[in-house]
Amino acid sequence: MMKCHYCQREGTIFIENLGYWTCEDHFERYFLKRVDRVLRKVKRGSSILFGVSGGKDSVAALHSSSLLAEKYDLKLGAAIVYTGLASDCLEIFKSLINELGLKNYVIDVREWGIRIPQDPRSACLVCGVVDRYLLNRYAIEKGYNYVATGHNLDDMAYFGLNNLINHSLDYLFYQYDSVTPPLPEYKMAGKVKPLFWLSDADALNYIKVKGLRTCLTKCPYEGRDKQAVIKPLLYQIRSRWSSSLVNFVSSLRKLAKMSEPPPRKINLCEKCGYPTSGRICAFCRLREKLGEEVL
Ligand SMILES: [Zn+2]
Ligand SMILES: [Zn+2]
Repeated sequence: MMKCHYCQREGTIFIENLGYWTCEDHFERYFLKRVDRVLRKVKRGSSILFGVSGGKDSVAALHSSSLLAEKYDLKLGAAIVYTGLASDCLEIFKSLINELGLKNYVIDVREWGIRIPQDPRSACLVCGVVDRYLLNRYAIEKGYNYVATGHNLDDMAYFGLNNLINHSLDYLFYQYDSVTPPLPEYKMAGKVKPLFWLSDADALNYIKVKGLRTCLTKCPYEGRDKQAVIKPLLYQIRSRWSSSLVNFVSSLRKLAKMSEPPPRKINLCEKCGYPTSGRICAFCRLREKLGEEVL
């Protein structure tokens, strides 16, 4: 029998980033402490719109944040960006929202003239652009200060390494943190990543310990992009050195803060008025390409 690192009880959960076993109670404490570390950086009295897909990460992020919202005087809402494919995810979303009693929005991409393409090479790109755009736009229109997502430490380690090997540094300069501030003059909500210090497995264990439901419908393209190559390498490194990925993400974050980034170029899209680095934003270009007229 493995013993809990903190008490006499049986250790049933392995925390990869720490390299030891804990009981359920101490796991929950560890988990909420990490979420707390993120939420305490959000300005008191703010409102946060959670993007929820129904998967383990977004459900764990919203559920754990809801337990800490009062402490930091945060108002939470939730939105699902719905493609019309995964109806079980929509059900999960609705039942979770009911349980937590939150204001919520179902954003149907079809009403925005978007269909997710069949080709896996462009599907993930389209999904990413559409998610980011619509969550930010709803947050601004409904008066939320921040958008929260389920990105966890493993995602951040992947983004970090991927951006380094692509030599694309903008993401590291401006977005590589657990909380980034809102820029209302550019119609940009701030970003919050409650699971920034927690692993994939941590999120899954939280779901189990709390008895939460998540949807099983996976993105049909998952595992066919770069993540499928890079993430196993990162996991392999962590299995040898438990604190390695936490250290990797901390180091990149610190380097990004220490460096003097080039001035950030933000324009407002000529079609929709939302932020872009060019003249027309990625979302509007996408809609044009898909042959729909722009709203
Ligand atoms: Zn314990
Ligand atoms: Zn636009």
